[in-house]
Amino acid sequence: MHFSTKDILQHFHTTWLPGDIQAAMLRLDLIHPLVQGNKWFKLKYNLEAAGNTKILTFGGAYSNHIVATAAACKLYGLKSIGIIRGEKPAIPGHTLQKAAELGMELHYVSRELYNELKSGGEMARLMQHLLSDAYVIPEGGHNAEGARGCEDILSLTDTSAFTHVLCAVGSGTTLAGLVNANTQQEIIGISALKGAFSLEGEVESLLKEPSSHWQILHDFHEGGYAKFTPALLDTMNDFYRETGIPTDRVYTGKMVLAFRQLLQQPFFPAGSRVLLIHSGGLQGNESLKPGVLCF
Ligand SMILES: *Cc1c(COP(=O)(O)O)cnc(C)c1O
Repeated sequence: MHFSTKDILQHFHTTWLPGDIQAAMLRLDLIHPLVQGNKWFKLKYNLEAAGNTKILTFGGAYSNHIVATAAACKLYGLKSIGIIRGEKPAIPGHTLQKAAELGMELHYVSRELYNELKSGGEMARLMQHLLSDAYVIPEGGHNAEGARGCEDILSLTDTSAFTHVLCAVGSGTTLAGLVNANTQQEIIGISALKGAFSLEGEVESLLKEPSSHWQILHDFHEGGYAKFTPALLDTMNDFYRETGIPTDRVYTGKMVLAFRQLLQQPFFPAGSRVLLIHSGGLQGNESLKPGVLCF
């Protein structure tokens, strides 16, 4: 997939950004309407490794990874199969409709079976065997190829002048890739999940060498994964009005909310130059009622 990296780095100002701190957004949301953000980076080496085989992957009903995989497979002419967690909804939401439209074959499985398949246990091995010609990408693209793709994010343009990098965290794959690519900057992950303290271990399992230049902050989940509060939606709307940058409610909106609150602590020393990674996910906003967001 080819995309332009022109204008991918957007410096921004807001009323709440102190004069002695610089901030910019790396707009990965602009690279493609569907294979958006970090998902493309997590997919690219997986698709390369898959060759011409069909792709099997996992996700929930609102998964950005499912849509991105369906779209990327369509672009590459590969067959894709999605194992979806939970019963088939009476009316499939935007994400599942989009994935089906893009040609992904969807199978709904109970949460129990889903977790078993995902864990790589006996059922997973049986399925692997029955589907021996499929290339399996774990949920969220959480594997070594996924992290390797994310190493390329910070070299899309010159980002060497930044002192800190902020990113949203779901599985930790993106964070691991950023840390693997980097020895100088402080990499700060904002967890979109509540109390997911196993994430640090997930990140470590993908690091090429131990590093002390990263951390995950767990206080900005706004109630938990995919949960949202009026404060979050207000922050997203304010941020869009001031900068023209749309964010998603599951990940990047929480990153901006965290950034704003961290500035108040103050977490960043004067003179810091902070790069926020816009990891995409905008399709997820389609499940909100019209009018809730101003963009
Ligand atoms: C999937 C996703 C993330 C989480 O990335 P991980 O590599 O799983 O931590 C962050 N932001 C957006 C928009 C996503 O869709």
